[in-house]
Amino acid sequence: MSSEVYDCIVIGAGIQGSCTAYHLAKNNKTTLLLEQFVLPHSRGSSHGQTRIIRKAYEQDFYTHMMEESYELWAQLEKEAGIRLFSRTGLLVMGPEDGKNFQLIKSSLQRNKVPSVELQRHRFSQHIPNVNLAAGDGALVDSTAGVLYADRAVRAAQMIFQARGGIIKDGQKVVHIQPGAVVTVTTGSDMYKARSVVITAGPWASTLLSLTGLELPLRVLINVCYWKEKVPGSYSIRNRFPCFIQLEPKEAEHDIYGLPSNEYPGLMKVCYHMGSETDPDERDGRMDRADVDAVGCYIRRCFPGLVPVPAVVESCLYTITPDRHFVLDRHPAYSNIVIGAGFSGHGFKFSPVVGKVLCELSMGQVPSYDLSPFSIRRFQGHRRSAL
Ligand SMILES: Cc1cc2nc3c(=O)[nH]c(=O)nc-3n(C[C@H](O)[C@H](O)[C@H](O)COP(=O)(O)OP(=O)(O)OC[C@H]3O[C@@H](n4cnc5c(N)ncnc54)[C@H](O)[C@@H]3O)c2cc1C
Repeated sequence: MSSEVYDCIVIGAGIQGSCTAYHLAKNNKTTLLLEQFVLPHSRGSSHGQTRIIRKAYEQDFYTHMMEESYELWAQLEKEAGIRLFSRTGLLVMGPEDGKNFQLIKSSLQRNKVPSVELQRHRFSQHIPNVNLAAGDGALVDSTAGVLYADRAVRAAQMIFQARGGIIKDGQKVVHIQPGAVVTVTTGSDMYKARSVVITAGPWASTLLSLTGLELPLRVLINVCYWKEKVPGSYSIRNRFPCFIQLEPKEAEHDIYGLPSNEYPGLMKVCYHMGSETDPDERDGRMDRADVDAVGCYIRRCFPGLVPVPAVVESCLYTITPDRHFVLDRHPAYSNIVIGAGFSGHGFKFSPVVGKVLCELSMGQVPSYDLSPFSIRRFQGHRRSAL
């Protein structure tokens, strides 16, 4: 057992834990980042090469957080000397009179986010190889683009270590003993800290149960790549944008995609939902119906893609009932802080998430109103032992 008492132990070295550790180290806090797998790994939610970054959201509080997030991504890029972002724009398509399309449109206008509305008769001039469905409107969030996910995780960990932070991987946390000094036990060692941040992604429920807390989190699985009939027609090199299709007629939830990049000639198009799984029993669990629904959508709207997936991988979403994150202190132990339930859209926020989790762990007032992310909102759902 190490005799050192850290200022903070962060549990989970995905993007949220890595960014939290990065901010703690920048605030000169002695910090230990614990990870159950040997790094890098592809068993959680932060692996893979790309994620969408955008300001287009229905809710202003996300758009406001993204203002700072873009700045912090640029700062991390500079510090690490690694390119983390490519601007491509984000095409938002959806029923023109639908609630979500209108909310995004008004939020973009209200928040003065550089964006354009594409008129139907000029749509194919701007966006070739896509069929805009009858009744759908189209907007482009010009600030949006692609984040290079694996590189971003590495960059945050690299700067954290350069500032004296310690990463111990291959160390699964199996016990947490709350107190003014929290004791964290892994399979092979025991550590102590004045505060703990839990950023365990799909394993959040398992970790939180060690502290007597249950949250309504569900784990889902998906990711598919689709082959371009003409290589390059939807590629990042040709500046094809990321896209979100709201309310597709083939499925209950949105479908989104990123230009071909990581696998040349293959475009990532996914269902923004998935089949429920256990993070430790996930292999082979993907629901064929989800893949088929995306295939039908592709046949109708992306005629330049082969509507049968070329690559099916797995990545885990951890969703809350309202799809908003959990950023809060533990209701019983104020020095245990929780970042969870990122609901398939948390990557782009991670520099800001890391900043607020760091503030909470240092006992400071967070820079943002965290009421949309509070644990209290689950009171009806929560089956807590507390
Ligand atoms: C297919 C897919 C597409 C997505 N697309 C986007 C997108 O376009 N834009 C966007 O913004 N977001 C997107 N997201 C969401 C985003 O990737 C996630 O919100 C984010 O990666 C969550 O990070 P995390 O750190 O919370 O979880 P994780 O990356 O899973 O990290 C949690 C870590 O905790 C570790 N851990 C768990 N239990 C223990 C333990 N007992 N002891 C030690 N370590 C432990 C795990 O091994 C893991 O490394 C997408 C997600 C998926 C799956």
